[in-house]
Amino acid sequence: MRIALVNPTWSFENSIYFGCRSPHLPIELGACKVLLERAGHAVLMLDGALDGLSLTALAERVAEFAPDMTVVTTAPTYLFWRCAQPELRVPRAFLDALGDRGGRTVAVGPHGSVTPETTLAKLACDIVVRGECEEVVTRLAEGGLARLDAVPAVAFRDRAETVVTGGPAATSFVDLPALSWPDAWVARHAHHHHRFDRAPEGPGAEVEASRGCPYSCTFCAKIDFRDKYRRRALPNVLEEVDRLIAQGVTYLYFIDEIFLPQKPLLEALAARQVEFGVQTRIDLWKPDMLDLLGAAGCVSIEAGVESLTEAGRALLDKNCRASTDDLAERLIHARRSVPFVQANLIKVAGDDPALVAAWRDRLRAAGVWANDPVPLYPYPSSPDYRRLWGEPDGEAWERAHAHYLGQFDRFSDIQEERPAPLRELEAACCPA
Ligand code: SF4
Repeated sequence: MRIALVNPTWSFENSIYFGCRSPHLPIELGACKVLLERAGHAVLMLDGALDGLSLTALAERVAEFAPDMTVVTTAPTYLFWRCAQPELRVPRAFLDALGDRGGRTVAVGPHGSVTPETTLAKLACDIVVRGECEEVVTRLAEGGLARLDAVPAVAFRDRAETVVTGGPAATSFVDLPALSWPDAWVARHAHHHHRFDRAPEGPGAEVEASRGCPYSCTFCAKIDFRDKYRRRALPNVLEEVDRLIAQGVTYLYFIDEIFLPQKPLLEALAARQVEFGVQTRIDLWKPDMLDLLGAAGCVSIEAGVESLTEAGRALLDKNCRASTDDLAERLIHARRSVPFVQANLIKVAGDDPALVAAWRDRLRAAGVWANDPVPLYPYPSSPDYRRLWGEPDGEAWERAHAHYLGQFDRFSDIQEERPAPLRELEAACCPA
């Protein structure tokens, strides 16, 4: 079968989008590609930014390839599924430009994972995949298109009805083979994600050593994908890392929700000429492992601290056993060998602004960056959404968006543009 995999050319005018706007490798499509090719299918993988193509040009390239199935992602990469832009206008514009020239059209991403019927309607595509997509997409190619009702974790229309075959998929992941990326993409990937110690030299890339997280913080949008913690076989990770290094990559960003201490991986990285960045929880790292992390080439740590009181962290279900002083000490310890360390803070009811200011000053004096706390978007895949409104329905994204915009005036300095209501952003999509 011929399959096109497309990361559309993103634009975020008037969006609340929190993720980084530079191009990144679309890991979910790379994972689909390796599994599809292993099963003998012909794959065309396109990325609007990394191929330098407009939405129209992407559609033309797909049409020339004449696929039986075209898969489009609704978020720029797996890394940002937990903080995706709520609006679907870009994938919809791509699908409109493609028309009926791409075979069966399939949407993968965080939107369809939680609200499959709405996503199917807004995108006017044929199939929506729920959850982690690579194994379901392979199943579609392996005869599933002819028997959609036998494929788990998809939504599709059957005459006047929408059929949802089940809850979101989780992949096995541990045996995901090494992904490979076109030389031209790597050469164009100048961005070093979340790196601030110095200007990038040489290409960057994103990789994945683990998926999911054993915690369930209230604000974290991962209920429907990348939820349960799984660690990928180390030889596969290292094969991918070595391929990237051979392509000239000098910096890797681990997209793992939580990069947990793993001595064999750190020792293997220490033996290679590459630097890297991670997101993690500092309370899970002992001083000797932090030293190894720095020695292995880590140049950027983003650590979720969230609240500066134990009560605040408990309110967020952080399940954190360390005291606030302990957290500060570990961050400062990490900073001895890692040139950029960031403590993430979020706005929690009851946090004392004077305490926050004093803590930020103390950490900054020790070279650790801590942001000004801001409220978070109650994503439909987060426990926060469900605490506020129950199970997500067809209006979930609109509801979360309106709630967030209601708070916007109080923190308008964090986003340059005034974000627009979701219906305005999605004027080209058919509302459910
Ligand atoms: S520790 Fe991080 S990844 Fe895990 S649930 Fe909390 S915010 Fe999400």
